[in-house]
Amino acid sequence: MKEVMIATRNKGKVAEFEQFFANKGVQVRSLFDAEEIPDIVEDGATFEANAIKKAVTVQEALGITVISDDSGLEVDALDGAPGIYSARYAGLEEKSDEANNAKLLQELEGVEGEERSARFVCVLAAAFPSGVVKTVRGTAEGLIADSLSGTEGFGYDPLFILKGEERTMAHLTKAEKNEKSHRADALKQMDALWDEWLLEHKEEEKR
Ligand code: IMP
Repeated sequence: MKEVMIATRNKGKVAEFEQFFANKGVQVRSLFDAEEIPDIVEDGATFEANAIKKAVTVQEALGITVISDDSGLEVDALDGAPGIYSARYAGLEEKSDEANNAKLLQELEGVEGEERSARFVCVLAAAFPSGVVKTVRGTAEGLIADSLSGTEGFGYDPLFILKGEERTMAHLTKAEKNEKSHRADALKQMDALWDEWLLEHKEEEKR
């Protein structure tokens, strides 16, 4: 395989995948190279369904191997919300980190200590030209803080205290977050499985 398309227009994600494929001799492309692909509606019921829909749609349009991701925050005291609705938790129209964080703090009023347990989830889906589709699910466990702090990162980072840390994820440097995040966990899992997936794809192609 010579190239892989990452189904994203997020530069930070593209950089992480470039690092992942650097020693595999695979050229990384992204949707910045494929302007004709419209944004794909994420209407699945799970992170897996959304990631697979994105990967398969782009794979079928372009013909090459495609990797997509879908991520979000699951809060135990809220039965897993915001979950797949993380980006638009505060309202379906706008995407606002500030409003989402305010809503999360409000929903967790009266919930204390270990009861504020949560995890970031990142599902990666890989769709190969043979029709083989694979997923991995990475997680990062932690607690929701009582108030916002930190200026790094994005989304729910100012409210998320990673297990074993004292301060929120918004205090971590990019390099620290890239080591400990849900996306890092998913990439590690994919790294362990990649050769196996490639073999399965090649076997399927021969049929
Ligand atoms: P997406 O899968 O990149 O669209 O992310 C969905 C939403 O989940 C984002 O808009 C954020 O609200 C939240 N999210 C995903 N990953 C992170 C993270 O690393 N930090 C903070 N929030 C995140």
